[in-house]
Amino acid sequence: MININTYNAAPDAYLRAAAIKNLCEKYNFLRQNVIGRSLCGRNIHALTIGSRKNPVLYAATFHGAEWINTLFMLRFTEEVCAAYEAKSCPEGVDVHKALQRRGLTVIPCVNPDGVEIQLRGSRSCVKYKRLIDSVSDGADIWQANARGVDLNHNFNAGFRELKRLERANNITSPSPTRYGGERPFSEPETIALRNLCLTNRFSFAIAFHSQGREVYCAYKNTPERSVLLGETFASLSGYKIAVPEKLATGGGFKDWMIGYMRTPAITVETGKGKNPLPLSVFLPEYERIRKAMFRCLLV
Ligand SMILES: [Zn+2]
Repeated sequence: MININTYNAAPDAYLRAAAIKNLCEKYNFLRQNVIGRSLCGRNIHALTIGSRKNPVLYAATFHGAEWINTLFMLRFTEEVCAAYEAKSCPEGVDVHKALQRRGLTVIPCVNPDGVEIQLRGSRSCVKYKRLIDSVSDGADIWQANARGVDLNHNFNAGFRELKRLERANNITSPSPTRYGGERPFSEPETIALRNLCLTNRFSFAIAFHSQGREVYCAYKNTPERSVLLGETFASLSGYKIAVPEKLATGGGFKDWMIGYMRTPAITVETGKGKNPLPLSVFLPEYERIRKAMFRCLLV
């Protein structure tokens, strides 16, 4: 069993698969499925515990340089499993009871290729190496998928307005960050998430990004439960409710969940500093958000 407490490496595809396998071997009630594959064929895993009815969704690492969130997801899943089995109440949450009523689905990494590019460079995505090399232009941050599409700009929410803003900011082609693609859902990673959300009626969703210690809950006619969820997370973690800058609105997963799926959703920006946040941030930041992650199961 890999103890995630002692993780001292970034969660690349190998480490992620090993951690998921170990969790599934230890907890036979943890259900694992592959909801899709990245452009380079890497698995996008979903882990589910408890009731299949209206589960809550926690999804992380839409952006390559934000892989620290995968560690938060794996650690949280491990703690939830332990509490579910022991029928214990971490942070005052009766996990077994809560998840019998409404399950939890965790996606540790939405953008597996982006993480590999961030960690190992373009050689980790051979098929797209030339494109990655030509657009990265010496940049040391890679947020997009393997063909330079920012997955959190590729959902069908305010897409036309987003394109207009991209053009105004001179973003017209594949890029390490912020290029939303030619059309919504042009990428296998966003299609995988869309299909998962269309086949599961999620009760609400939290998308984990980095960094800033902020919570975004507003989009158009923000549902009241998005606000409640955002305020709950913020008050328990000390994070601040914020409004994203213009180019970070529209095309996002949270926006699509609210606007199209009519499902309450928030974005959480974990940690503070410069992406990629170093491994040393993992445990102290997890401690900071742990209570919020458990208590939000009850919202
Ligand atoms: Zn992000």
